[in-house]
Amino acid sequence: MSNQLIVAKFGGTSVADFPAMSRCADIVLADPNIRLVAVSASSGVTNLLVDITKQTEVQARYASFEGIERITLAVLNALQHPEAVAAQINTLLADLRNLIETGGAVYSGAHKDLIQSFGERLSSVLFTQVLVERGAAALCFDVRRVLRTDSRFGKGEPQITAIADLAQTHLQPLLHDQIVVTQGFIGADEAGQTTTLGRGGSDYSAALLGEALNAQTVQIWTDVVGIFTTDPRLTSDARCINEISFDEAAEMATFGAKVLHPATLIPAMRRNIKVFVGSSREPQAGGTWIAKAVEHRPAYRAIALRKSQTLITVKSPEMLHAAGFLARVFDILSRHQISVDLVTTSEISVALTLDESTGSAFSSAIEPALQELQAFCEVSVEQGLSLVAVIGNHLHSAKGVTGELFSALEQINMRLICHGASRHNLCFLVQDASAAAVVKELHQKLFN
Ligand code: ADP
Ligand code: ASP
Ligand code: MG
Repeated sequence: MSNQLIVAKFGGTSVADFPAMSRCADIVLADPNIRLVAVSASSGVTNLLVDITKQTEVQARYASFEGIERITLAVLNALQHPEAVAAQINTLLADLRNLIETGGAVYSGAHKDLIQSFGERLSSVLFTQVLVERGAAALCFDVRRVLRTDSRFGKGEPQITAIADLAQTHLQPLLHDQIVVTQGFIGADEAGQTTTLGRGGSDYSAALLGEALNAQTVQIWTDVVGIFTTDPRLTSDARCINEISFDEAAEMATFGAKVLHPATLIPAMRRNIKVFVGSSREPQAGGTWIAKAVEHRPAYRAIALRKSQTLITVKSPEMLHAAGFLARVFDILSRHQISVDLVTTSEISVALTLDESTGSAFSSAIEPALQELQAFCEVSVEQGLSLVAVIGNHLHSAKGVTGELFSALEQINMRLICHGASRHNLCFLVQDASAAAVVKELHQKLFN
């Protein structure tokens, strides 16, 4: 296989229904280098699967199941030859039904991931048939054969070397003669148990597969015509960015630009694989290229927003002139596998925000960690905060940046600010309720 390989990923809205899947088929069939396609679950399906895992009553689980069945059967029945995949789809739905009935009142982590895997498994079977009906040689491949992770359910950690070996052995030979359709978001541990990469993880899957197969490009097809200067849902002033560097885009993803899963660019950067982001609705509208070297590196590139953040302030008079206090705080957080986002310190206190991207794993880790902290210091917890990140270049040192930003932020009620550690970002916290307005105003001041 030449290194011209393109891995194309289609997100949930792109494979939401039959017409949407047909548009994706147009994109795939228009470029012979697209040999591997990773799909998300159809829009809404993963949320319904998560609902199932949260319900304790079988009846309530069935209400969510029916939603999934409706979305799936609507695509199935729109196919020219539904009978070609009906047995596969019905088996998947029957397996899911079985898990609903036999799962007990509370699902284990392994069960939750297995249940959440059904969305991508269903959509990949359907999308393969859409391609076949368009005359393509296409095959549906179970990504769990190659996408090896550890056994952290809900946020499996990809095992890069194993993925490369498995993909070279099982996937690469298939790419010569057909288009291979596979699942984003899911993987399997060494024992073969199904795992997931965390919500929004299909982008990451596509990049991991691109890395394993030495692809030339990874395409992320979604519902926006590229990466914008801020979430276009927040302000109509947001502009599409034609070209952006890996570091800037990675910062955007980390700080909440949902268009990319935070880890997506890590494999792409390791192998220097270009990433393209575009809209499956308007492929002719162009998009954003993410690459190592870009021509233009503006001081202000974008603004990202991450809502519902927790701020923890740890205070102890012992901290005054005492060595080891911070080490002790961070040791506790690290033992509970909680990672810290922002930190500011004063003589006797340290304020930090926590990275909540681990979802349920985070929720169960936070209480015991707080208890340990409370044993030797005063701890206060504030919720309902939003992290606003200004992303750009040389923000830590460029002349005039601080003045410009502070005057733009003049009217804004800030809870905490972090500046100086990174040349690519300046972050601050505001109340959730005012976050959207803050981004809108700041965007206007910095970009218009
Ligand atoms: P998909 O289902 O295709 O993975 P997502 O909903 O995960 O799509 O991501 C696309 C969404 O990301 C857009 O609809 C947009 O609202 C949001 N988004 C947030 N920040 C940005 C940004 N800076 N540029 C573009 N889209 C953004
Ligand atoms: N279907 C998964 C989710 O909704 C993964 C993805 O769409 O990227 O989170
Ligand atoms: Mg997404």
